[in-house]
Amino acid sequence: MKIVLATGNKGKLREFKQMCQDEVVAFSDLLGAFEIVEDGDTFADNALIKARTIYEKLGTKNPSINYLVISDDSGISLPVLNGAPGIYSARYAGVGVTDKDNLYKLIDAVKAKGLKSTPAYYTAAIAIVSKYGEYVVHGWMYGNVIVEARGDKGFGYDPMFIPSGMDLTLGELDDNIKSKISHRGKALELAKPIINMLRNK
Ligand code: IMP
Repeated sequence: MKIVLATGNKGKLREFKQMCQDEVVAFSDLLGAFEIVEDGDTFADNALIKARTIYEKLGTKNPSINYLVISDDSGISLPVLNGAPGIYSARYAGVGVTDKDNLYKLIDAVKAKGLKSTPAYYTAAIAIVSKYGEYVVHGWMYGNVIVEARGDKGFGYDPMFIPSGMDLTLGELDDNIKSKISHRGKALELAKPIINMLRNK
């Protein structure tokens, strides 16, 4: 069985490879890069859309190979912004923008509320699609966002996010610390027994 990750996001890919000891392959290595329209209403819907699309394309290209496709749809939500950017985290500042554009737009949105810091949480939905069925698990990480960007580790909104109980932003913390407490790390812990069960079928 070949385990394929349905993401083109370099930050996610690096974290998944670290957490899965390199046994995953990016879909773009097998199919080349292409756009997937994520028009679901929830993280779970969008994770399933991505995993199903890649699973179907791989099956059409190589019907003899048994694929297991894993996707992650994730984002950050701020209660003070009624949950925004949420499922729109990747395109908060517009379509085709950079992570930095999104980060500084969120910093400006918090500043516009007259706040220096406010509660926030990350959500990750991981979908698993294989010939034996479809599964979705979730993980969350809670903390606060601040109105400055600190550190250059992680990706996306990490330089403004301080996990609960910590003083440093995720931009200042190493990936191996982040993966133990992150939304993605927690979802992956739930996904692992499912992946193992499917792999051994
Ligand atoms: P997706 O690829 O459509 O799931 O978009 C996820 C977006 O959410 C990313 O582009 C980031 O902006 C944000 N995001 C998700 N997880 C993280 C994380 O662990 N750190 C920082 N930003 C994240």
